[in-house]
Amino acid sequence: MNIKILSKVLAFVMCVSAGHVLSSQHVLPKLAYTYESLEPYIDAQTMEIHHSKHHQAYVTNLNKALAGTKAEALPIEDLLIASEKRGAAIRNNGGGHYNHSLFWSMLSPEADKTPDGKLLEDINRTFVSLDSLKKLLNNAAMTRFGSGWAWLYVSPEKKLVVCSLPNQDNPIMDAAKEHRGIPILGIDVWEHAYYLKYQNKRADYTNAIWNVIDWNAVAANYSSALASPLLKTIEKDAWLALKEFHLVMAQTFHPMEEGDFAPIRSRSGEMAAKSELLLKSKVPASFQSDAIQKALRDLYAGATALDKLVQKKAKDDKINESLTKLHDTFHIIQGLCSDEH
Ligand code: MN
Repeated sequence: MNIKILSKVLAFVMCVSAGHVLSSQHVLPKLAYTYESLEPYIDAQTMEIHHSKHHQAYVTNLNKALAGTKAEALPIEDLLIASEKRGAAIRNNGGGHYNHSLFWSMLSPEADKTPDGKLLEDINRTFVSLDSLKKLLNNAAMTRFGSGWAWLYVSPEKKLVVCSLPNQDNPIMDAAKEHRGIPILGIDVWEHAYYLKYQNKRADYTNAIWNVIDWNAVAANYSSALASPLLKTIEKDAWLALKEFHLVMAQTFHPMEEGDFAPIRSRSGEMAAKSELLLKSKVPASFQSDAIQKALRDLYAGATALDKLVQKKAKDDKINESLTKLHDTFHIIQGLCSDEH
């Protein structure tokens, strides 16, 4: 038996013996402190249930939702960016897993209660003071109706921003709309995070939590967010006019490759309109260049020419030539927005 087959058999045996054949790619992180060590601010029972039951359930259900799908091997960030198309199970449980992992990592019984260095400078520049930032976060937490989180995140423009989002949504997700970026601090305002100790007094909980939020950890999250290629990926993903053009391109070009010209013949007008919206849209800061402006103009000219051909009922080979050229131009734009640029 060769080593490749042997290792596959071993992996299978290990899965079966663990009682399941599901993917166990995502795992519950161990805490760096004990459940009782955040007392009196967060009680031991809340911590134990929150970590070992709630977070564990997100992990279990995420792995269940991913099992046997193409998304099984993807990093969590890739799942979250496209949360809307992946469906509720991945959006809610993937978000739950990511958010709680971040939450545990920025809590500590020996919390460093004030940031320093670049984070403090940027907080002061953006929010005037640490106190006013805390007030904004507490307000975001208090005004979140029902379950959700208050977030401090880094936007693609590398600005610090406060927001709140419902349920387990976070700024990495397309679902976050105008609040896209990488979260560096989150306050869980689901009742399961505080109800045993604080009951209906959410404000007492959000005031107390500052005693165990470790600004050292937040500062580390801040520097890694600033250096992360994910920020550019989010910036591109948040360029909605590009995304919408891409969708029409994918839904017309690929059928044509298979010999089906009906989609492009019925949607060339829509494609021309989307190319015009794209040309007029605001190019995200990182991607602004003469080259991209030229490519966007070429795209608009190409889509308009293609639409004219369709209106004139041109033959398939003419349509093919024109759409293939347009597809190449679109790839130039995609390339100019990739991480290498
Ligand atoms: Mn929670």
